Amino acid sequence: MPSAEGINGDVLEEARRQMEVCNACRYCEGYCSVFPAMELRRDFSDGDLTYLANLCHNCRGCYYACQFAPPHEFKINVPQIFAELRSETYAAYAWPAPLAGLFRRAGTLAALALAGALALVLVLAVLLQDAGVLYGTHTGEGAFYAVIPKNLMAGLASAAGIYVVLALLIGFVRFLRGPGPSISAGAVAGAVHDMLAMKNLSGGGPGCNFPGEKFSAERRWLHHLVMYGFFSAFAATSVATIYDHFLGLQAPYDYFSLPVILGTVGGIAMVIGCAGLMRQKIAEDPEPAHKASRGMEWGFIWLLLLTSLTGLALLAFRETGAMGILLAVHLGVVLALFITLPYGKFVHGVYRFAALILYRAESREE
Ligand code: SF4
Ligand code: SF4
Repeated sequence: MPSAEGINGDVLEEARRQMEVCNACRYCEGYCSVFPAMELRRDFSDGDLTYLANLCHNCRGCYYACQFAPPHEFKINVPQIFAELRSETYAAYAWPAPLAGLFRRAGTLAALALAGALALVLVLAVLLQDAGVLYGTHTGEGAFYAVIPKNLMAGLASAAGIYVVLALLIGFVRFLRGPGPSISAGAVAGAVHDMLAMKNLSGGGPGCNFPGEKFSAERRWLHHLVMYGFFSAFAATSVATIYDHFLGLQAPYDYFSLPVILGTVGGIAMVIGCAGLMRQKIAEDPEPAHKASRGMEWGFIWLLLLTSLTGLALLAFRETGAMGILLAVHLGVVLALFITLPYGKFVHGVYRFAALILYRAESREE
């Protein structure tokens, strides 16, 4: 199980108290993977609680079903305490450790990173080229490089990409490294399936209790749109990189080329998914929520939405005089999104995946 070093002891104690009540009650065992995993235990170590909190997908089914939820004196509110424990996990596993405090200011961080990255891209574009390139009309192969030099674009993308992958990988490996079940290829494959299907957002069948008490599959579908949209946009960038480096074909590509189709589909899916999740977030019942995590959640979702919108705007106006500014703004937003990935809401996917691997591994052992 993961180490709980650096996690607030009061939060762990409260999670332990609630899990002990749940383990005596067991009414919610059909809702998600948390309860079957809980039932494998008589006692809850700090690592067990960290694992269970990250296995929770915040469907809120157990909150609305619970006869011991506030105002009952037991004050059982599993989604809330697990959300708080998850935010503690993100800070405890952050790399490098001195940046862990950014999780508590993630909303501000996202805004500052966005502003800083935008300014950097625009200033570099002007300094390295000529301010006029931002306003000129550039068309045909290599038009984007007339605005932002290829080496600058590739250098920023590579440096940000390597840093982000390293920071996320270190957290992921540290989460899985503690004493626990041995992890097989089958457990990893099962966890990939659970993640891609978002099984635990089904609330045991009828969907989540989100944004309110009513069951709905909407949140699961919106998450699917965002996740598969992100994968599609990432695939578009990867294919474009192969075109550029191995085939010698430079962007912008034809409207019906593979990178543009993948990017457009991914961008539209993310816009719909992010807008839907924002609408749900505004309407959500605040009682099962962890209020201090809201800045982190809003910061990430805004950056994701802006990345998609600026990408689609660049596609729509790439043959006009607005292309230079739109390209610089889009690259700035993408850069801001990337450098905040290890210190914001994005990491919930990394640790949930790690928890799903542990769940599959220990279920198999039983
Ligand atoms: S959340 Fe409430 S109803 Fe569900 S298992 Fe725990 S104590 Fe029982
Ligand atoms: S909120 Fe949903 S996913 Fe989390 S423990 Fe409760 S039922 Fe399970």
